[in-house]
Amino acid sequence: MALRAVPLSLTSSLSGASFFQHFVLEENMLEVDCPCVTPEIVLKASGHVDKFTDLMVKDEKTGTCYRADHLLKDFCNEKLQKDLSISPEKAAELKRVLAVLDDLSAEELGAKIKEYGIIAPDTKNPLSDPYPFNLMFQTSIGPSGLSPGYMRPETAQGIFVNFKDLYYYNGNKLPFAAAQIGQAFRNEISPRQGLLRVREFTLAEIEHFVDPENKAHPKFSDVANLEFLMFPREEQMSGHAAKRIPLGEAVSRGTVNNETLGYFIGRVYLFLTRLGIDKNRLRFRQHLANEMAHYAADCWDAEIECSYGWIECVGIADRSAYDLRAHSEKSGVPLVAQEKFPEPREVEKLFINPVKKELGLAFKGNQRMVVEALEAMNEKEALGMKDTLESKGEMEFYVCTLEKNVTIKKNMVTISREIKKEHQRVFTPSVIEPSFGIGRIIFCLFEHSFYMRPSKAGDEQLNVFRFTPLVAPIKCTVFPLVQNQQYEEVAKVISQSLTTAGISHKIDITGTSIGKRYARTDELGVPFAITVDSTSSVTIRERDSKDQIRVNVERAASVVKEVTDGRTTWAVVWSTFPHHSSGSADE
Ligand code: AMP
Repeated sequence: MALRAVPLSLTSSLSGASFFQHFVLEENMLEVDCPCVTPEIVLKASGHVDKFTDLMVKDEKTGTCYRADHLLKDFCNEKLQKDLSISPEKAAELKRVLAVLDDLSAEELGAKIKEYGIIAPDTKNPLSDPYPFNLMFQTSIGPSGLSPGYMRPETAQGIFVNFKDLYYYNGNKLPFAAAQIGQAFRNEISPRQGLLRVREFTLAEIEHFVDPENKAHPKFSDVANLEFLMFPREEQMSGHAAKRIPLGEAVSRGTVNNETLGYFIGRVYLFLTRLGIDKNRLRFRQHLANEMAHYAADCWDAEIECSYGWIECVGIADRSAYDLRAHSEKSGVPLVAQEKFPEPREVEKLFINPVKKELGLAFKGNQRMVVEALEAMNEKEALGMKDTLESKGEMEFYVCTLEKNVTIKKNMVTISREIKKEHQRVFTPSVIEPSFGIGRIIFCLFEHSFYMRPSKAGDEQLNVFRFTPLVAPIKCTVFPLVQNQQYEEVAKVISQSLTTAGISHKIDITGTSIGKRYARTDELGVPFAITVDSTSSVTIRERDSKDQIRVNVERAASVVKEVTDGRTTWAVVWSTFPHHSSGSADE
């Protein structure tokens, strides 16, 4: 119970105050809250019903299921770590397989599983060929059971289907972003590794809509000088390690596709390191070609190293115009933006006008399909048809919905190029999407924040979480030094001021030794302790340095508030207030 309470309050301080402050407030985002139960049609349009799959293999005798890539990964890692007899060539091959694991097709995975003789880990039975397994939880909406639905596998689709309203709320202007924090559900084949792979988890997603013809970001210069570990596609394929690259250089060289994507990579780096993630165990890995959805312009994962290896914690993708187009096509509602021109512009446009009367006479009941196919021609096809009709008078034309060729004659369609005056440009925005797995970030934060230090007597190792004031679930403790009514009164007054200031805290008026009380709260990662040892002034102790300052009772809560809100730092506070030295800062 106690263990669970910490992650829960960490989740709220991480997804609440810090995510909200760092992204939603800073970028003036819209915040939305969409339902978890999603009608099938939405997820059909997005492609999830057909393609949101992982490759699975089955134990051929017991039917137990495994994720195919996990088995191959475990096999390669185990061989590399435990089999001292493997040749350098074999080791290089296994490392290469690990590097391209996310890039392998079902056939390639199946071939490797066969080649390495991988069998079911629990029973040693043979395994089936890999096949796709859809990760969504299906349900039905309403009592009839006739409306299929799914628990949302991500929060993003709710934002896409509401694009029209969100664009309107933003004054019909681009760029803008909408954010959503909520539960996502995935029927993972093999949930494992604690909080890292679960079937219900908190996602925080941002959909930043931008003009595809202008992906510059006005604030890119704020992050251009950041330099951190990046792992571009080419480095992965050639077996090199991640390297430190200045973000500005990665964008100007085209390693990162565009400034807006680069801006969010930089902001995610700042977010994670401000939370307390160790910058030396954080890298941005670019997706390999097959790993990335075909429509995506570029994708990078923020990966954090923990005891399970490098874990994808945030995905940052330029998904181009795919999502809005897909929902427009399915719903018939145009999800588009407009750019009004200051002066009307003359543009040459191609017009395809099927002559319905002639087509009706020729194709009768099939007329609609032929009209749609003619209208769907791209510019090259249309101009090719125009030339052929002019030279030969007719041509064979494949109508995919009829699955056959039909003969189009010159009198059935007019194709022309005309100059038109346009007052605006209508286009489908691109979307840049940072998607944060809150549970994974918390897990890594636990590991990166934990350390042990010897007790004062040196006979014990004490646990400490060095949570930053920003994320620490409890920001402060208030302790009367000894059990004494006057000190308790002061402690209660300070506690009330902390409550008023919105600072989460714990007051402990037990007679336990002050050292023990400090040790208990160090273990919870509480950054500051206010100790009442007089009625006029108190001490404030900082957890990691164990340094103590002396402040007036009236000022105590506000000092903690200022450091916690990031308006000042402990270093500044330390240089401003008188120091207090006493042996009791320690256990
Ligand atoms: P994705 O949409 O697959 O890129 O996932 C977005 C983020 O959600 C990832 O970067 C992970 O941090 C997190 N995530 C994905 N699947 C799970 C899971 N099964 N359990 C916990 N977190 C997950």
